[in-house]
Amino acid sequence: MILSSLHRILRLILSIPLLTICCKAADTAYTISLESPAEHRVQVQIILSPGPPTRELQLPVWNALYQVRDFAQFVNWIRVKDRAGHPVQIRSLNNSRWQVEGVGNGAVVEYQIFVDSFGPFGAQLNAHHAFLNLAQVLMYPSDSRNAAMTVRFSHLPKDWHIATPLSPGSGVYTAENYDRLVDAPVELSQFHESDFDEGGGHFRVIIDADPTDYDSDKIIANLHQMVAAATSWMNDRPFETYTFFYHFPRGPAGGGMEHAYSTAIEINAEIIRRTLFPLNSVTAHEFFHLWNVKRIRPQTLEPIDYTKENFTRALWFSEGVTSTAEEIIQLRAGLMDEKQFLSRLSEQISELENRPAHLTQSAEESSLGAWLEGFDYYRRPERSISYYNKGELLGFMLDLAIRDASHDRASLRELFQWMNANYAKKGLYFDDSNGVREAAEAVSHADLGCFFTRYVRATDEIPWNDFLRYVGLHVEQFSISAPDPGFLASRNFDGPTSVVAIAPGGEAEKAGLQVGDIVTEIQGKPAGEESDQQLSRMQPGDTISVKVRSRGRDRELHWKIASRQQFSYQISDLDNVTPEQRTRRAAWLKGEAESAGAP
Ligand SMILES: [Zn+2]
Repeated sequence: MILSSLHRILRLILSIPLLTICCKAADTAYTISLESPAEHRVQVQIILSPGPPTRELQLPVWNALYQVRDFAQFVNWIRVKDRAGHPVQIRSLNNSRWQVEGVGNGAVVEYQIFVDSFGPFGAQLNAHHAFLNLAQVLMYPSDSRNAAMTVRFSHLPKDWHIATPLSPGSGVYTAENYDRLVDAPVELSQFHESDFDEGGGHFRVIIDADPTDYDSDKIIANLHQMVAAATSWMNDRPFETYTFFYHFPRGPAGGGMEHAYSTAIEINAEIIRRTLFPLNSVTAHEFFHLWNVKRIRPQTLEPIDYTKENFTRALWFSEGVTSTAEEIIQLRAGLMDEKQFLSRLSEQISELENRPAHLTQSAEESSLGAWLEGFDYYRRPERSISYYNKGELLGFMLDLAIRDASHDRASLRELFQWMNANYAKKGLYFDDSNGVREAAEAVSHADLGCFFTRYVRATDEIPWNDFLRYVGLHVEQFSISAPDPGFLASRNFDGPTSVVAIAPGGEAEKAGLQVGDIVTEIQGKPAGEESDQQLSRMQPGDTISVKVRSRGRDRELHWKIASRQQFSYQISDLDNVTPEQRTRRAAWLKGEAESAGAP
């Protein structure tokens, strides 16, 4: 947080003399050719306008996901010519940065890059479609990242169309700077588009999936309710047009990714055919991100540094409390009832309490740890907690704390609206957890220092019942005998499911399962999104069948499910719920403060 602010001041000081010498930063024009779908290769041409004689080009090492993914690994070759067509030498400064000299009159840079990573945070070209997160594909000139840029697409297969939130203009899309450009994903395919209007906003729904796998009328009906619920909750709609990109693959799927004017969401087709509940949840989450993280943004994520990790202590808020809002939006939209809501909240408490690391890793530390999530060991329950999980719970408890402290005159809603007015609308960024505390105290007129010290910065146990009593609820702990498969597997976003821990001496170990094995199938179904539920449905004594791969060898293993004692948490009514508690609960479930108006 301190490092980043200092970095920003330094950049500002350094950029002043540069700007006065060069007058105006050069414009950059990109052309992306989809020449070889079968080989997953795109060719990029960058026309650099006249500018300084020496230029540097940078390909981001990360984007969107808080993980270093080194996109330069996919660059097959790069070459440069001057405007007269003469070759110019290009030199690698490191793996993702290049330098060219003698290009004061401008230059043409060309390179070929392999793109075949699926998912909402990937870049992929194949015979069926292209879906591009442009930061994985486009290098930026380091001296003009903040200047206007254009991009066009060539060699599109016949019948493919283009969908992107970028501003269109006769085949060329424009963005005011690189950050804006790469915050706009692009879908190129024979997608299906359904648009609708709601509350003065225009919404584009781009679906690239088999039409027999989904019902677009149902999806649109839910979207209407959801965007109405979210914009009314925030009393704001900071866009004219917003785009939903959906992919429903019949194989593994990757979740959702937020952008300022769009979201890309991918869910397995089999799930979509059965229920829209997971789609509603992830959509509500990503849509709310258009405020929380895209506009209500921690200082530690600005300015974005594409060359290395951007450490932030605020993901418990930017991600976790976005999950809190996700639940509130679904309640307000009528897509979830009180019973479902309380059961999901109980599950979240069980998840946190059953992870030993909740006593050793704070919410802030788990935010910093996001950059380690690609490592199997880090995801073990004794090593880390999830900032989504604890952050969501902190969001609900903070909501109750604000209501209590303000005598029902403010809630989480007022906190978000305050941050929207005092940061987002003013183009300012908040100071991580301190900024959230500032907002919470401004709307509640109370000192909430203890909450932030104990539950955000430190690892004190959260006294659930002290908070829940306010709305006539309490949580009870039960010791249950749960099915124990004898191993723990997890996956990193779009990565494979891998075994991260095995119970010593257990049946899984005896069957030959090893840490590091890639789990491909459980009970005949591909390992992935639904494996957890599948395992939880099994009973002690059942035989589990697991297919794994390691060192290129496939094995099928079978063993008997054991049982283990673990805690389960369930939220229910207090014995004597008072009328005040009932009124407060009704307001809490609506996401509204009981007494309207500012405190
Ligand atoms: Zn998120």
